[in-house]
Parts: sequence; C-alpha cells; structure tokens
Amino acid sequence: MKVRSSFLLFCRSSIGVLEKKEVEDTLSSGWLTMGPKVLEFEKKFAEYIGVKYAVAVNSCTAALHLAVLAHGIGKGDEVIVPSQTFVSTVNVLLFAGAKPVFGDIEKSSYNLDPLDIEKKITKKTKAIVVVHYGGLSANLKKIQSIARKHKLVIIEDAAHAVGTKYNGKYIGSHGNTTCFSFYATKNLTTGEGGMLTTDNPKIAEYVQKSRMHGISKDAWKRYSKEGSWKYDVEFPGFKYNMTDIQASLGLHQLKRLPGFLKRRRQIAALFDKGFKGSQELEVIQVPKETEHSYHLYPILLQSYDRDIFIEEMKKMNIGVSVHFIPVHQFSYYKKNYPVKKNDMLVTNDVFNRIVSLPIYPDMTDADVRYVTEAVLTILRK
Ligand SMILES: *Cc1c(COP(=O)(O)O)cnc(C)c1O
Repeated sequence: MKVRSSFLLFCRSSIGVLEKKEVEDTLSSGWLTMGPKVLEFEKKFAEYIGVKYAVAVNSCTAALHLAVLAHGIGKGDEVIVPSQTFVSTVNVLLFAGAKPVFGDIEKSSYNLDPLDIEKKITKKTKAIVVVHYGGLSANLKKIQSIARKHKLVIIEDAAHAVGTKYNGKYIGSHGNTTCFSFYATKNLTTGEGGMLTTDNPKIAEYVQKSRMHGISKDAWKRYSKEGSWKYDVEFPGFKYNMTDIQASLGLHQLKRLPGFLKRRRQIAALFDKGFKGSQELEVIQVPKETEHSYHLYPILLQSYDRDIFIEEMKKMNIGVSVHFIPVHQFSYYKKNYPVKKNDMLVTNDVFNRIVSLPIYPDMTDADVRYVTEAVLTILRK
C-alpha cells in the first residue's frame, strides 16, 4: 500500500471563525479574566447537560481536586480509582491526603469492574472515582447501587465523556459530582479548561469559592461598577478559575458539539465496519445503555507486538497513541502504593496490547479508510 505524503496527526482541534470572533470580542472588551462569558458558558453548559450547577475552572484536574475536597475526602480515607486513566485522576487524591486503591477494569469496556470495586471496599473506603474511558460510560447503575449500599461518594471523571449519554441522560446529570476537561485534545476545547457539574448547592458553592482563593462567590466582580472592593476570605482556596478568553472558545465549541459527536460516531462506524471479522484485533463493543462520544477509538492487538505496531504506523505516516500507561506502573506509585502481584491483571494485559487510532471531526472519510487499510496491512504482515 502506498504511504501518504503528509503525516496524519493523532488529534487536532477544530476551531472555527465564530470561536475566533468571540475571542477577539473578549480581547477588545478589556475584560480578559473570569467575567460575563464564563457565567454564560456555565449556564449554557448546565442547560446542555441537564444539571442544576456547572462551575467552570481552569482544568479537569482542578475540578477533580475541588470535587475531592468538596466531599470532605482526606487523610485516612481510601478511594477506589481505576489505574487505566490519566495520572491526574489519582494525583488529586494525594493532594487531599487520601489513599488511592486501584480498581481493575472490565475487558469489554476498559471501565472500572464493579466486581473488583466490591472486593476492594474496606471500612476506610469513602469514595469511588469513576472514569468514563474514551467516552464510553462506566456501568453507573451497578456502581451507584454499590455506593448506596456502602454509603460511598461517587466522583465521575468525564474528561472524555462530554456528550456521552447513559440510559438516555447526559453524563454529568446522574446525581454525582462530575468533572469535564476542555484540554486541547478533548471533544470540546477551550485550550485548557474544565467544568464541574452537580445538583448539590453546597458542593457548587464550595467550588465557586475555592476556585477563587476562598473569597465570596462574586469576587470576580470586585473591579466592575456593580462590584465592591470589600471581600472576606472564608478559607484558603486556590486559583483555579476559568477566563473569559477560554469561555469564548467554549461557548461556540458547545454549539458545535452535536456536530462533532455526529462526525466522531460516523468515523467510529467506518472503523467498526473496516475491522469487522478481523482475527488480528478487537474493537470495543458499545453496550446499549451508552451513546458513546468516541473521544478515543482504541484497538486491542491479538498477537502483534504493540510497540512495533506503533513504529509501523509511524512509517505509514499515521500518528497513534496509548491510553494509558497504568498509573500503578509509574515509579512513584509503584514505590508508595504497590499493588499485589495477582492484582490489576486486566489493566496490565490491556496496556500491553492497546493502541488508540486517530479520531476527530476534521478527518476525512479517505483518512479513515487509509488508517483502516494501514492497520490491517501491518497486522497481516
Ligand atoms: C485529560 C484528562 C484529565 C485531565 O484533564 P485536564 O483538563 O488536562 O486537567 C483527567 N482525566 C482524564 C481521564 C483525562 O483524559
């Protein structure tokens, strides 16, 4: 097969004229930091998700950190969390002084395995952090019933799952504190940014204050005419607020999200069709409860060496990636939070064989066909 002349990027954000115009409008307005556009973005995001409160912050990591603190998770608490995630999902637990307990995943979905969660619950367990891997919803129904039974908090890491539906409702509206990412590679981007959603007014208020040094919630207005120079600090908070420049991007990315999702689903369907019946790889089977957002399209190689496969894809001028290096395999975590020898077997096996293929709205059908053909050609060698 003929190698394409240009390198096909693994991911690429789609920024349109409306985003650019809105950013320009913000820059000329003279108000660059958190202001009216952040509030409008929060309102529109909450409406889209179908949740009472959406609080904008400067990253999903910040949202996760504040979610952990808002639920009073701290020293002496154990939190069950997948290792099959980006490291920040776990790092934030350490910021709060809690102990991460790694849960294994289901091979069918790469999401937390409810059976393994139950095995790992102890008297000290306080919470479960659920990651919707690649945009495929975790088994929330089962995990919520476990949480109710053991009185545990659920925090959802929905960095991949903006626009994912589970049982007909968007992720972020299922009654738990949920954290979204608008990092450059994600399905909706503000360059850097994040959002926390909740129906709980106390959680929302805590996050609104703690993203701004712990000062009262309207503090951003203190330099405007309606504002006042007086404010109080109720507790030492963080500097985690979003800016109006970021929100300018977010407002239009949110409008374009349904179109983005439609295109991602089309691409996934083309891949599914192309790989159907292949003995060399497995693709994800989407359960009927989930409307997948396809942030990622991972394939699992049967016998071909994963690292060589990635080199071969590069030679074909295609960018691929691996999601994720399991957190428990990083040196810091190995040393401080070692897992037992016969634990995390599915996570380890999946890691050795998984590859993420490029999937983003601006890919053409020809790009998708080229990637499909390259994958099959390499694996049949
Ligand atoms: C990207 C990502 C994060 C971190 O998001 P930031 O907005 O960069 O902080 C957290 N969890 C998962 C699963 C991610 O993929």
